[in-house]
Amino acid sequence: MDPVSFEEYRERFREIYTRNPSLRRLPLEVWEKALRDGRLRPLVGTKKNLFRLRRDFKGWAEGTVFSERLVVPGFPHIPRLFRLSTGVPRYFEGAFFAEEKIEGYNVRLFRVEDEILAVTRRGFICPFATDRFPDFLPRLPEFFEAHSDLCVCAEVAGPGNPFVGEWPPYIKEDVRFFVFDLLRLPEGHRIPPEEKYRLLEAYDFPHPEIHGPFEPGDLESLKALLRRYDAEGREGVVLKSRDARIYVKYVTPVSHLEDIRVVFPYLGDVPQEYITHRLVRYVLSRWELFQALDEGAWQAVGRRIFPELEKLLERIDRGEPVSETFRLRFRTERAFQALLAHFRHAQVKVEVRSACWEEGYLVVELVKVYPRATSFWKNKLEGFAVVD
Ligand code: ATP
Repeated sequence: MDPVSFEEYRERFREIYTRNPSLRRLPLEVWEKALRDGRLRPLVGTKKNLFRLRRDFKGWAEGTVFSERLVVPGFPHIPRLFRLSTGVPRYFEGAFFAEEKIEGYNVRLFRVEDEILAVTRRGFICPFATDRFPDFLPRLPEFFEAHSDLCVCAEVAGPGNPFVGEWPPYIKEDVRFFVFDLLRLPEGHRIPPEEKYRLLEAYDFPHPEIHGPFEPGDLESLKALLRRYDAEGREGVVLKSRDARIYVKYVTPVSHLEDIRVVFPYLGDVPQEYITHRLVRYVLSRWELFQALDEGAWQAVGRRIFPELEKLLERIDRGEPVSETFRLRFRTERAFQALLAHFRHAQVKVEVRSACWEEGYLVVELVKVYPRATSFWKNKLEGFAVVD
């Protein structure tokens, strides 16, 4: 960071520090060192004085956002179960709920003074969700009037989202918001499921499907639900204890295969163990839910992954890059420009194909280009040898 920016950010951070008691748990010098080291960053895309944590820091999670009055903790990681019959009794002592796990991206919505912002898992402002939440959560301002100490966690999902290539099969266009958690600020404690469900109903917040309560000793109906989700191509469930202390996730076999199908063109861009992890999860979940790793199970892998690969190789062989097309709807031109700025900031290569107003929305077609994934395939197709 250049010295001029550092001085300016230091001044801005001091204003927050003197007013926010949660931050004064640590001496100012510790924060200033975090700022100098790049662990603490000013938030771009808002005129409000906000900072975000780029990494876990002194008990606060990556993506935590600070303002003069607020601490919005990073969203906690949810451990994964690989086997229900042994995993559920290991973690749950009593009744629990199963919520549909929605495939999309996570945002935390909160109010800073007169503005409601949505931030991503890493604590960046999400211009898309900040623009679109009024379409799906029109009573959010009223909610924050009554509950200014809560943060709303939602999954933004659908083919019209700007970040992820998978979505629930029942969303055919645009996006939807699903509120799945409410965190109490500043600690970030999760509101227990039943209290949360009452608030979601009271404010007409759309939410994931809710099942239960279930008992840890009787998992047949939960397994039947997961077999149905698997047949319908849905992602899985997040299991939540009544007091909200225990959360675990469990994903359907088909969803692991879908992850592999979607990621295959971008292999040069994902960790090397990505495919192996999904295959292991597929084998275990298929074995548990369907009691068989038969020919049907093996064929499902190939049928899901291979059909589109021939076209991919042909395109790359013709000299085209690996790319992904997004069709997004914005309520404002400003939000669209802010999303482009966000991609520039995150060094994501984006080309705008078209942008025009349709029925009150700016409908934009964007193409993301993946240079690393392109060279991953291209070098091989061009005959370069690799020592592996
Ligand atoms: P982590 O579990 O560590 O967050 P991750 O980023 O890889 O890891 P996933 O494996 O996708 O995330 O699972 C957790 C995410 O699932 C949550 O961060 C949240 O965005 C999403 N999610 C979707 N539906 C729900 C739900 N009903 N309850 C909780 N989280 C949900």
